Amino acid sequence: MRVCNLSSGSDGNCTYVETDNVKVLVDIGISASETVKRLRVLGVDAKDIDAILISHEHSDHIKGLDVFASKYKTKVYVHSQGVGAVYTKMKKLSAKQIYSFDDMPFTIGDLNVDTVCLPHDAVHCSGFILSCNKRKISIITDLGHTNDVILNKISGSSLVYLESNHDVEMLKNNPNYPYKLKIRILGKLGHLSNLDCAKAIEFLAKTGTKQIMLSHISRHNNTQSLAYTSVCKYLASVGIVEGRDIKISTTSINMSTIFKLN
Ligand SMILES: [Zn+2]
Ligand SMILES: [Zn+2]
Repeated sequence: MRVCNLSSGSDGNCTYVETDNVKVLVDIGISASETVKRLRVLGVDAKDIDAILISHEHSDHIKGLDVFASKYKTKVYVHSQGVGAVYTKMKKLSAKQIYSFDDMPFTIGDLNVDTVCLPHDAVHCSGFILSCNKRKISIITDLGHTNDVILNKISGSSLVYLESNHDVEMLKNNPNYPYKLKIRILGKLGHLSNLDCAKAIEFLAKTGTKQIMLSHISRHNNTQSLAYTSVCKYLASVGIVEGRDIKISTTSINMSTIFKLN
């Protein structure tokens, strides 16, 4: 498998995943033209994308969907409970291109797709667990908290993109954020804080995950270095050393590291 995050954060989320015979995107929250440009950097032609998996209807996950999928006739996979909320935001996309899934795993060519329901204030939010040839990666953003179902589903992934959205104090003290919005983000259906993310990583490190990509990092209530140091500091306090026991990197609105999992 080859995996690359093309963009992450509230300005747009998009991750490219490739197996020997399938190429997919998970979310397309940047414009279609920007997606095409970034795929080209990877040597991938947009028309060769077989499918787009959509987590939920928020615009930072579907911004480029309508234009991209209607232009390239790409199949679009959305959970049956969230499909209506996504489709009402489309202007050109044909309903024939939409494939809804439920809670059962399915396959796209040689790619196995399992999903998990994430607690978030969307109609339905899916986390994705993608596997091929015994290699497994998970993409888990947006969620207000973790639970045993989520952690057990993603355990054993070689690579996990996990939300590390905000620093709680930075968010609470942000004078530009209305109180209502702070409550929403901090709530059980909001976004995962650096500390909550770190606690999930503690579990993942103990169950074999070797690489974490801190994802959906807030531009206003966090920084890449703060997310990284907060997570590493917590892990060190429970005896887990970054670089030795697990690798932690960050994502941003720019393309990040390309991973090859053989
Ligand atoms: Zn969202
Ligand atoms: Zn989001």
